[in-house]
Amino acid sequence: MTTETYGDVLHECVACGAQKISYWRRKSFQYTVGENAKEFHIYRCACCGTGFLNQPPDRQWLKAIYQYSGQALTESIALKNVLDRERAFPNCTVDAERMARHAKQLDTSTNRRALDIGSGFGFYTQALRMSGYQTVSINPGQYENQVFKDLNGDEPLTMMFEQYQPEQAFGVVVMSQVLEHLLEPDRAIAKVASLLESGGVLACAVPNYASFLVKLLGTKENACLWVPEHVNYFTEQGLKRLLERNGLQVVKTEQITRIQFNALSRRLGLTGRAAAFADALVKLAQIPFGRMMNALGLGIYINVYAVKR
Ligand SMILES: [Zn+2]
Repeated sequence: MTTETYGDVLHECVACGAQKISYWRRKSFQYTVGENAKEFHIYRCACCGTGFLNQPPDRQWLKAIYQYSGQALTESIALKNVLDRERAFPNCTVDAERMARHAKQLDTSTNRRALDIGSGFGFYTQALRMSGYQTVSINPGQYENQVFKDLNGDEPLTMMFEQYQPEQAFGVVVMSQVLEHLLEPDRAIAKVASLLESGGVLACAVPNYASFLVKLLGTKENACLWVPEHVNYFTEQGLKRLLERNGLQVVKTEQITRIQFNALSRRLGLTGRAAAFADALVKLAQIPFGRMMNALGLGIYINVYAVKR
C-alpha cells in the first residue's frame, strides 16, 4: 500500500496541550500477513498521563483503514450476525441505551437533534431516536454502514467527522469509541463544542489507558493499545482536560468494565467441563471485580458527559 506513511511529529500532548511529553514504549503492527511490520512509538504526557502515537500514521493511511471498517472487519457482516453477537455478549446495545439515557437527562437545551459521530452498527442512533431525538449519523466504514441501514432503515453520512459540514446545532452529540481514532482530537472537540447548543451535552466513551489490562499486559494489550487504528490513549484526567479547554464542562464520569465470559477459557485453551467452569467463574466474579476496578480508576472504558456552557 502506497499510503502507509507516518504523519507529523507531535510536540505537545494531544489531550491537555502540555509540552512535557516523552517516549513510553514501542509497538509493532502488521496489517496484512507477509508485509513488513511497521513500528510505532507511543509517547506519554507527564501532566495528564495520556498516551499517543508519535509519529502517528498520516491521514490518508487512517482513511484507507476506516474506509471499510472502524473495528477491524475484514469483510461485510450481516445484521443478524451482529445481533446474535449482541445476544451472546450484550455490549453495544447496553452502552447505547445507557449513554442516550444519561445524555438526555443532562441535556438542558431545547434542541431535540442529536449527532452520532462514528455511528458504527447504528445502536447509538437507534437509542437516541428511541429517546426522542432526530438524528444525524456519520461513519466512514462501508461494512458498518450496511448494518446500520438494515437496523435503522436509513444510511449514515459516509465520511470522516473532519469532512462533515454541519448546517444546524445539536442538543446531544455522541462519540463512542471515536476520539481514540482521530488525529488532532483537540480540533475535533473544538468542532463538537461549536455545534452544540448552549446547555447541550457531549457523551463520550474511550478506552482507558490507565486500565488494569494495560497495567497487566503492557503493549500486549489491544483494547486500548490497538495500533495503529487507535492513535490516542486517554486517561480520565486527559479526557477531562481536553473537553474543558474547549468550553465543555464535565458533569458526569463513569468507568465501565465488561469481560466476555469466555475470555479466560479461550486464553487458557480450555474445553469441555473445564471451559464451562471457567466461563461460570468469569460470569460470577466479573461484577464485583469490575466494580472494584472502576472504583480504583482501572476500568476498561471511560464514559464522560460534558455540558456546553
Ligand atoms: Zn496531557
